[in-house]
Amino acid sequence: NDRVEDYLAQQVATRPDALAFEDNTGVRVTYAQLDASADEIGARLIELGVVAGDRVLMLAENCVAAVALLFGAWKIGATVVPFNARQTAGEVQKIIDHAEPSALVCTSGASADAAAHGVRFDAVEAVGVYGTLSFAPLEGGTSDDATDVAILLYTTGTTGTPKGVMLTHANVRFGGLTSANLRNMTPDDVIYGVLPLTHVFGMCSVMAAAVYIGAPVRLAARFDVAATYDALRDGVTLCSAVPQMHALLMAYSKKMGYARLESPSLRYVSSGAAPLDPAWKRQAEAFYGVALQNGYGMTETSAGTAATTNEIGDPDISVGPALPGVEVALDMDAPGAGDGVGEVITRGPQIMKGYYKNPEETAKVLSADGWLHTGDLGRIDEKGHLHIVGRSKELIIHGGFNVYPPEVEAALNDHPQVIQAAVIGHKVGADEKVLAFCQVADGCDVSVEDLRAFAAERLAGYKRPSQIILASSLPAAPTGKILKHKLLETFADQIG
Ligand code: ATP
Ligand code: MG
Repeated sequence: NDRVEDYLAQQVATRPDALAFEDNTGVRVTYAQLDASADEIGARLIELGVVAGDRVLMLAENCVAAVALLFGAWKIGATVVPFNARQTAGEVQKIIDHAEPSALVCTSGASADAAAHGVRFDAVEAVGVYGTLSFAPLEGGTSDDATDVAILLYTTGTTGTPKGVMLTHANVRFGGLTSANLRNMTPDDVIYGVLPLTHVFGMCSVMAAAVYIGAPVRLAARFDVAATYDALRDGVTLCSAVPQMHALLMAYSKKMGYARLESPSLRYVSSGAAPLDPAWKRQAEAFYGVALQNGYGMTETSAGTAATTNEIGDPDISVGPALPGVEVALDMDAPGAGDGVGEVITRGPQIMKGYYKNPEETAKVLSADGWLHTGDLGRIDEKGHLHIVGRSKELIIHGGFNVYPPEVEAALNDHPQVIQAAVIGHKVGADEKVLAFCQVADGCDVSVEDLRAFAAERLAGYKRPSQIILASSLPAAPTGKILKHKLLETFADQIG
């Protein structure tokens, strides 16, 4: 039974003194130090009463200590429940109630929010070469018989309440190995780790890939535009991010008057986890000076399912072909299907074990022969490349026509003063209205009327927003992904 910690053991055996991870609090560890830290943390978890089959809640922002905790818990056969420390006490409590972890560990040295959660649970701090963590036992923890689940990872919650996804050691290993191969990673790469480890993309495509191949990662506790701009010019070769991060970085550079990133070392940039606006792709390639690869996946698929491997300037706006070993097809009988568009279904070693404590929901999305129903609508072009047109849950049926939010968002994003747009359907009587939210810079002079005229030039009548709301920020997850189901409640008093 292959486990994720075997990837670490492999690096310890061959390159113990190579730099493995460093973080923005100044902590740096080699593979040997990371391994020793993991053992130290594993021993502490055992002292707290954690046994194999237990779950350990990790309230974290990216830092070396979080990685050491992952490997420490895995070494003793525990499952980690990674959860972003920026989430509120109420959200943390919901996870505790559902996951029933027997201990909690907070990355208190690298995150004030994590430290505050620790204080609420009387967690005790421990300091090591990995940094500082705080530990607390939790009452009501339960244990599972199987120890094959590496992480219990909650989905972003874009469309509703986050679901607890069980990813096995085999899932995480596959996600890591596939990402490393796809990106042609070598130990000479230097990875900027700005995607949260508490999201599948950061966990599998960044952390697991790096340890698999033996490339060092510079972890950033959170996304900061200025820090990211500087980091990417300072020896980083590879960076994966969500589209919102690329957009914010480009907006920042424009404001600062920087035309291009001009990084001599950067060789690979990718986008994933949310729709990539085609215009952003073009602009980002001009900005970075390298191709922007688009990867499609979800928590339920250990990050990867399909990805591009394009040259710079390639007009391909797909999410590429299925990853090696992965099957992708379309279910043409699903809701919202028709006209070459179907529900994306996928099968392979990346598919989750199931939703935790939710066999009904698991049975709804995972068929007996292993196909996962993603809930995303897509089409497959003549080259076999997958195109995501939107989620079936977010498909807007307005005046009898299908409106895909990403297309409307892309049209609004084209406006130079719009940082990013989010579009949702709003049921009014029997119809669904197209509602657009545009994030604009504070003090910018664009009006709703300007945007309305701008959209009218670019979109057929039925696709045009019936209302546009301007905002200085939109409700977002710790990754930067927009939480669409929160838009209605956040802007309730402006929606008419
Ligand atoms: P929830 O399931 O809780 O509503 P979520 O689906 O946003 O949240 P994640 O697992 O983080 O949670 O995101 C996966 C989803 O993100 C996919 O199902 C898809 O809708 C979207 N997605 C991911 N990558 C891409 C991409 N490259 N292009 C378009 N959409 C993408
Ligand atoms: Mg989802």
